[in-house]
Amino acid sequence: MTQTDPVSSVFRQEVLALSAYKVANAHGLIKLDAMENPYSWPEDVKKSWLATLAECQLNRYPDPEAAELAATLRSVYRIPAESALLLGNGSDELIQLLLMALPPNAGVLSPDPGFVMYRQISRCLGLNYIGVPLQPDSFELDLPALLSAVERHRPSIIFLAYPNNPTGNLFNAASIDEIIRSAPGLVVIDEAYEPFAGASFLPEAGRRHNLLVMRTVSKLGLAGLRLGYMAGHPDWIEQLNKIRLPYNINILTQASARFALTHKALFDEQTQKICAERKIVFDRLKQLDGITPYPSAANFILFRTQPGRADGIFASLLRQGVLIKNLNPQGGALTDCLRVTVGKPEENARFLSALTKTLSA
Ligand SMILES: *Cc1c(COP(=O)(O)O)cnc(C)c1O
Repeated sequence: MTQTDPVSSVFRQEVLALSAYKVANAHGLIKLDAMENPYSWPEDVKKSWLATLAECQLNRYPDPEAAELAATLRSVYRIPAESALLLGNGSDELIQLLLMALPPNAGVLSPDPGFVMYRQISRCLGLNYIGVPLQPDSFELDLPALLSAVERHRPSIIFLAYPNNPTGNLFNAASIDEIIRSAPGLVVIDEAYEPFAGASFLPEAGRRHNLLVMRTVSKLGLAGLRLGYMAGHPDWIEQLNKIRLPYNINILTQASARFALTHKALFDEQTQKICAERKIVFDRLKQLDGITPYPSAANFILFRTQPGRADGIFASLLRQGVLIKNLNPQGGALTDCLRVTVGKPEENARFLSALTKTLSA
């Protein structure tokens, strides 16, 4: 009798074939790898936040609808009244919920390079993931290629990150509009970086039947809370609500996010600082020999090194105490590419001087 490995005879082949989403250890490093907001809150704001938390009844389950938080999100972000709203434990959970609702082998289409979770979760669920290459130098949508892939594969869901991660650019809005009109199924616009972009499809949520607009508070400055939200026509949201776990937004997240959104001016100020620094870092990168930065509407900058140098530069920065993201191992259009999150001025200065030192060594 042949012995079967108990794990592989119990779990699905799709799961065994996945590699885990690795998160780098940032202990003691300047952390510019994960698109986090580098700023904390003033002491008085922290104090009143803690007072809010003290009121939370941890012995009770949270409001399963997170109704007060949903109402706050609706008014702060002017979510169209005709759209329904779904909250998730991070927008990653919303992506998972959407994909869990699809029939076996359904098609999921997204531009490549794009956000890895669309592919990762699709593969895990045995869905048919289709990546359509972006235009090589601009990372703009290749509209004819995308429309013909849509025609050929008839995907159930098309994900478009707006701005795109890891490239940082905003796709042409007219192209997105055409994709929404031609899609046989849903189009999900993932606006994780909306705070830095100044462009959004949210006003159209609920008004175009096959459009869902997804956002998160993570990149805004609340990554630790794990809160994402998605607005769209009630027909879709109603179904997704059935597979959502009843208490997916915990009581501390509900209270903290409501509190934070009543201090939106604080985040607006931090966002402006980050956008001003984005320009400074971009301009400095552009001046460096052998570095090509790509214009960004997000809180990070993708840049290309000379051929074969990305791994070495990444390692050298790490030795100098600066952690960024090495995209070279992903290959394809990301060969020789690194991505840096825009941090505080002093962090960005440390990154730039470490990079300058590395390049001149
Ligand atoms: C970071 C990111 C997310 C995930 O956000 P969470 O709410 O933290 O899960 C989703 N989409 C894109 C494009 C992202 O870059």
